[in-house]
Amino acid sequence: MKWKEQILDLPPYKPGKHMDAVKREYGLEKIVKLASNENPFGCSPSVREALSKNGFERYPDGYATVIRSELAQFLQVEENQLIFGNGADNLIQIISRSLLFPGRNTVMASPSFSQYKHNAVIEGAEAREIPLLEDGQHDLDSMIAAIDANTAVVWVCSPNNPTGNHIPNDKLTAFIDKVPEDVLVVIDEAYHDYVVADDYHHSLELLKKYKNLIVLRTFSKIYGIAALRVGYGIAQADTIHALEPVREPFNVSTLAQIAAVAALHDQDYVKDCREKNRKGMAQFEAFCTSNQLNFFPSQANFILIDFGTSGDEVFQYLIERGYIVRSGNALGFPTSVRVTVGSKEENSELIEIMEQYLQEKKLLSK
Ligand SMILES: *Cc1c(COP(=O)(O)O)cnc(C)c1O
Repeated sequence: MKWKEQILDLPPYKPGKHMDAVKREYGLEKIVKLASNENPFGCSPSVREALSKNGFERYPDGYATVIRSELAQFLQVEENQLIFGNGADNLIQIISRSLLFPGRNTVMASPSFSQYKHNAVIEGAEAREIPLLEDGQHDLDSMIAAIDANTAVVWVCSPNNPTGNHIPNDKLTAFIDKVPEDVLVVIDEAYHDYVVADDYHHSLELLKKYKNLIVLRTFSKIYGIAALRVGYGIAQADTIHALEPVREPFNVSTLAQIAAVAALHDQDYVKDCREKNRKGMAQFEAFCTSNQLNFFPSQANFILIDFGTSGDEVFQYLIERGYIVRSGNALGFPTSVRVTVGSKEENSELIEIMEQYLQEKKLLSK
C-alpha cells in the first residue's frame, strides 16, 4: 500500500511494562512506578465523587462547555482562547497537522519531549533539533538561528522533560521577541503547577502581547488524572479558531470533562501536592549531593540523575527491587535515570535502594 514513506521506519511509542507484568516477572509483591511523572498521590477525592454521577450513552459535549467556562474564569482568559485535547499529546498532534508538511520545518530543543519530533516526522516536515546547553537550558540563540522562511513552529518545553529545568521569564520574552511573527511558538507547560521558581514565565501575560504564541497545559500531571486524558491550549482567539477544524469533534470524553472540572475546583489539593513534591525533590537532591551525583535542578515532579554508568543497568537494578523509573537511555541521557518524585516513604525506600546500588558498585570496582 501507499504508506507515507516517513512512517515506515518510525517506531511506535514504546509504553513501559505494565505493573502487573513486572510483578509477575520478578516475583514481587509490591511495585512502585516512578517512571511517567504521574501524581503519586492520585487525584482529588472530589474527582471520584463527580465521576460516579454520570451515564455513558451520549456523545461528549464537543465544545467542552463546562470545563471551558470554568477554566476561562480560572485563567482570566476568554472562552474562545481555549482548545481542549485528549491529553496535551493530542494538541501537539493538532498543531503539527495544522502547520507542518513536506518542505516546512520545525525547531525544538534536544533532548526534549519526544512527541514534537514524532509528529513532525509523520507530517513529513523537517525537525531541527538544537542540543541543550551544558546546564540543560534551551539554546535559545541557536534556536533563533535555525529559523528560516520555511519554519512554521518552534517548541519550547519549560520545565523541560526530561531535564526538569525552566526558562526564566526575561530569557523567554527576549526569545519570543526575535521569533518572526508568522512562526508559532508553543510553550509546553505540562509541569506548570509544580513550579515554585520566582522567575518562571508569566505566559498568560505574554499571550496578551504575542499573537504567535500557544501555551499547552495538562490535567495529567499535578491534577492526577492522566488516565482520563485532558490537556488544553491557550492562545489568542485567532490561533484557536485556525486550529479548531483539525480537532476531532469528540476528542475529550465526558468522564474526562467532568473529572477536569472537579480537579480544577480543588486548588487546595494542587497546592498540597506542589508542596509535597518540593519536599520529595529535596530528598533526592540531598541523595545526589551526598553521593556526588550530577543532576539538573528541577522545577517539575521528576529529577534526572546522572549515575555515570549505564542508565539501563541502574533501571534494571531498581526494577528487580520493585521500583520502576525511566532509563535515560531512551531520553538522550544514557548514563542517567529519570525518577518521578513519589511519596515521602516511596522516595526514602528508593533512595535506600540506590545507595545500596552505589555501595555494591564500589565493592565490585575494588
Ligand atoms: C506528560 C507531558 C505531556 C503530555 O501530557 P498528556 O496531557 O498526558 O498528553 C506533554 N508535554 C510534556 C513535556 C509532558 O511531560
